[in-house]
Amino acid sequence: MSKTDTKTKQQQEIIEEAKRRRTFAIISHPDAGKTTLTEKLLLYGGAIHEAGSIRQRKANRYAASDWMAIEKDRGISVTSSVLRFEKDDIKFNLLDTPGHKDFSEDTLRTLVAADTALMVIDVAKGVEEQTEKLFEVCKMREIPIITFVNKCDRPGLEPLEVISNIENQLGIEAVPASWPLGYGRDFQGIYDLIGKELHLQKKEEHGAKKAETEVYDLEEGIEASHLSDYDKEKFREEVLLTEDMMDMMDEEAFLNGKATPVFFGSALNNFGLDVFLEYFSELANPPQPYADENQEDRDLDRGFSGFVFKMQANMNPDHRDCAAFIRITSGKFERNIEVTESNTGQKVKMSTPHTLMGDERNILEEAYPGDVVSLFNPGSFRIGTTIYSDDPVKFDVIPLFTPEHFMKCSTKDPFKRKQLREGLKQLAEEGVVHVFEVPNGVGNELLLGTVGALQFDVVEHRMKTEYNTELHMNSVSYHAARWLSDDPDVMDKLKSSYSTHVTKDMEGHPIVLFDSGYALNQAEDKVGAENLFKFKQS
Ligand code: GDP
Repeated sequence: MSKTDTKTKQQQEIIEEAKRRRTFAIISHPDAGKTTLTEKLLLYGGAIHEAGSIRQRKANRYAASDWMAIEKDRGISVTSSVLRFEKDDIKFNLLDTPGHKDFSEDTLRTLVAADTALMVIDVAKGVEEQTEKLFEVCKMREIPIITFVNKCDRPGLEPLEVISNIENQLGIEAVPASWPLGYGRDFQGIYDLIGKELHLQKKEEHGAKKAETEVYDLEEGIEASHLSDYDKEKFREEVLLTEDMMDMMDEEAFLNGKATPVFFGSALNNFGLDVFLEYFSELANPPQPYADENQEDRDLDRGFSGFVFKMQANMNPDHRDCAAFIRITSGKFERNIEVTESNTGQKVKMSTPHTLMGDERNILEEAYPGDVVSLFNPGSFRIGTTIYSDDPVKFDVIPLFTPEHFMKCSTKDPFKRKQLREGLKQLAEEGVVHVFEVPNGVGNELLLGTVGALQFDVVEHRMKTEYNTELHMNSVSYHAARWLSDDPDVMDKLKSSYSTHVTKDMEGHPIVLFDSGYALNQAEDKVGAENLFKFKQS
């Protein structure tokens, strides 16, 4: 066989393997049910046989200090897992966005490595704040969003109200794909608006096992249900109203994240999950080519390449271990492959890559576009680093997100100023924190900015353990920040304003800090929102 033939065969294999992958992340607000749903997806996906274990672990995860302690005990496994499961020949990679109070830039960046977002909404609350923030990233990337409205076993908004809530809050079209039969205490099952089947369901004890399900056609199912005559009629009307919507959904709009199919269910009781998972694998995007720094698509079947979307340092001071998480963008990954780091030209042998499934670490032998490999102690790798084997490429896909929390920072020991700057520079490069200098009358002082408040604890902890420097932090009342376009006119206009502060980030890019939401609005009126950036391509 000639060399070209072999190559073609491998390219075909890569394309076939990529098609089987669904790499996704969950976007939700704390308490909407992300952890419960994750576990139930594993149950319905066949990766676990009984639900219960993840919840247990999560119970320990609430407080910041606990989180640190767990990181310490277990190395990197808690917040950084990629959950993999396979069902009907489809391989799912669920990128676990750190949950709960530890909302951070990490959570936002993970979405850059996902091909699809699964949006989980609490039926009683509708779209909440963190979901909106995460949605911004999906919107920027134009990735498809599939919605699961959770907790339908509890009183909440009516299904039609949820649909309009999504449309109004996010400005996208929400298209019903399944419909709850009764809700709140009366919740009895799901009508599959795509397959036109009614699933009547019974809860298994604690929802640990799959729900017992009987499948009917619409009328038979309605009759077999325990709804009142009034509710049966209401259900018929709602189905009549919504049943053709999925057929009419604009596929292009869905693929660009401008329309979202909406499924209803209860992750706790396992209602609606069979229908959801069946269509999820059909609807979710398989890996797509990423655009390189010249905005040219890198075909999936080219040589091996990937980018680092997440770095995780070990919190244990005895082990300065660090792991880089790499999303594969093209080609086939094989263990021991030698890769080049595109910034430095440094060559690294990928000899100990791991894939993380829950707490187990398995050595990964081969992987394809859409998969994530993690590499331990990756030297000069940083967030955004591109690696490739023999077909050079550079991606510039990870944006910086403007911080929302700010602290002034100094060292308790004036002789440690050098360590302070060095340490913070390092942490800023790793993407842990943003560092700015702001004049304070006598000189410059350092201002730290983060996307999530818990991130300050991480900075404090790492500065102490890794740079032997104790920080002194004071909160400041900045409300928001935006990067500026290079237009000097824009800068001048903002400099003259009392409640805005123009400064520079560590790379010297101009950024403006606002005292209040009002100041931000005023600035948007003055210089145009298009000159103030929430994201910056690094
Ligand atoms: P997360 O913060 O988004 O990961 O949410 P969790 O999965 O931890 O769920 C938050 C709370 O909501 C827990 O007490 C869950 O038991 C509960 N919960 C999750 N899904 C459901 C559901 O479908 N119905 C009801 N009634 N409760 C749920």
